[in-house]
Amino acid sequence: VEADWLKDAEEMVLKSRIKIPYTWYVGETGGRFFVDIRDNKRITGTRCEKCGINYVPPRKTCGRCFSDLDDSWREVGPGGVVESFTVVHYHEVSHPKDPPVIYGLIKLDGADTALVHLLAGVEPGEIRTGMRVKAVFAEKREGHMKDIEGFVPAEGS
Ligand SMILES: [Zn+2]
Repeated sequence: VEADWLKDAEEMVLKSRIKIPYTWYVGETGGRFFVDIRDNKRITGTRCEKCGINYVPPRKTCGRCFSDLDDSWREVGPGGVVESFTVVHYHEVSHPKDPPVIYGLIKLDGADTALVHLLAGVEPGEIRTGMRVKAVFAEKREGHMKDIEGFVPAEGS
């Protein structure tokens, strides 16, 4: 039953944004991954011997056979190959820089999975899948994904 006071109400929709600060625990595996990048400029993954897969970013548990991967850390990269990419031409607060922002799906040397990160030092039209790139580490590293500034073209492209 509709309330009397609603009968003449005007339907309105207001557009807005909410911004919610939050923190989250990255876990033991994520912590080790970020500390290695921060302190050693070293990118690591975990390997499942049973499946023969090097996971980067690292996983605590193999997604295929559920083996524990705690003791299977491997260094990968810092070079790798662009598996795919996209160019974003609009501004969005969640993007780490002004457009155009180029996101690449990068499979690091020694890895069997790819990670998403920024491609830099290259024009959007010059990027192609299969091109070689390498990680550029930030001067000031704080223990998160931005400790890698991005991936730039590398020799052997
Ligand atoms: Zn496995």
